[in-house]
Amino acid sequence: MSKTVTDELINANLRYAQDFTDPGMNARPVRKVAIVACMDARLDLHAALGLDLGDCHTIRNAGGVVTDDIIRSLTISQRALGTSSVVLIHHTNCGLQELTEDFRQQLEHEVGQKPSWAVESFTDLDQDVRQSMARVRTSPFLLHTDDVRGFVFDVTTGLLREIDPSATPGR
Ligand SMILES: [Zn+2]
Repeated sequence: MSKTVTDELINANLRYAQDFTDPGMNARPVRKVAIVACMDARLDLHAALGLDLGDCHTIRNAGGVVTDDIIRSLTISQRALGTSSVVLIHHTNCGLQELTEDFRQQLEHEVGQKPSWAVESFTDLDQDVRQSMARVRTSPFLLHTDDVRGFVFDVTTGLLREIDPSATPGR
């Protein structure tokens, strides 16, 4: 029987647990920050941002776009678990830049029904970060919307570039 990647992960976990000691933390992030980012495999948030275990919430999806489910997680993060800052991270060379909403049509054609969700594809990275910031800032469910900042992570240099929320779309 050949091993699957999941088997490899299980073995890695056994090694991890051998040296693991109970950090004695509760569920409230130490640095009171929630980070919303793309699921991209090249984006190691803890390494890139100097984060340690227990520091933050990381909420990830395809694109790092602010969907209703991201708002759900942010609402719980702020109201039940005490975070007050939000950091949004998109990145260069994102897979979503190569998709369009045609993807929904293709799905419908193939499986006979449209998904209930939008693909949330985008062509203008900066503008999509701005839209994500606006969705967080205008959410009625969040307690804290004054410290919301958005960035593009460059997958070739490892550097973050901050996006000005007020800049003109398309620039
Ligand atoms: Zn991505």
